[in-house]
Amino acid sequence: MSYVGRFAPTPSGALHFGSLVAAVASYLDARANNGSWLVRIEDLDPPRTAPGSIDAILCCLDRFGLHWDGPLMFQSQRQGAYLDALAELTKQGRIYACSCSRAQFQANPLYNCTCLTNPPAEKEVALRITLPSINVTINDTIIGSQTQHLADTVGDFVVQRKDQLFSYQLAVVVDDAEQKISHVIRGSDLYHQTPAQTWLQRCLSYNQPTYGHLPIITNDQGQKLSKQNLAAALDLSKAPALLSEVLERLGQTTPCALRQAPVEEQLAWAITQWDITKVPKRMQDPNAFV
Ligand SMILES: [Zn+2]
Repeated sequence: MSYVGRFAPTPSGALHFGSLVAAVASYLDARANNGSWLVRIEDLDPPRTAPGSIDAILCCLDRFGLHWDGPLMFQSQRQGAYLDALAELTKQGRIYACSCSRAQFQANPLYNCTCLTNPPAEKEVALRITLPSINVTINDTIIGSQTQHLADTVGDFVVQRKDQLFSYQLAVVVDDAEQKISHVIRGSDLYHQTPAQTWLQRCLSYNQPTYGHLPIITNDQGQKLSKQNLAAALDLSKAPALLSEVLERLGQTTPCALRQAPVEEQLAWAITQWDITKVPKRMQDPNAFV
């Protein structure tokens, strides 16, 4: 199977340092394996797409020399494919309507919802998938293997929300299959969602990609860098220095002579040197960037 990797940003704002780390790592792993590298815009929730953010993200990738292959995919244009997947899961008898509030499940993902046996009368319902009582093991190329019991630790998750939007879990699995993604290198904030996605892949008879979850970049308060805690947008005028910093944090330390070199030169070196086993399992505090 040929290597196909991807970077899949959510366009809720500009890229920050943590998302750049994910972009660079997925790019290098793909190129070092003579693979292709695709970009998918995860604009699943159009009202949350920040104006101008898609252009800003693409411009940023371009400025860092991260040139993608083939056409972009936009989740906002993929409703038909998600509906087909939902129809297949429904045909398999795995889907049920649930009228419980999001708050009930946010407080406890294993909240004892009885909608499966007592179908709700309401019209506004979310659709959930029933999970079997089995263990799923993921062999992660960075973090190692993890096993989760689906029914006891994941809980029946939403595939379509009350407002008709499809869940991230369903969309990402359908899109990875459509783009024939063989390797997913992404932030470890998504690590614990992987067994659920693996289960959907099995139900839909998709190939399972190889996963590698990068350590989360945190600020000096131990918070993940995100729009919520005001991670700064990247200063594109400092792209070479920022790229050196990313490579350092990925365990691929750039030789001094290359530290200020143009991004293309740094990437060309990094592709030849890329070793995923050198990526640290934890990363701390790029406080210069928050
Ligand atoms: Zn319910």
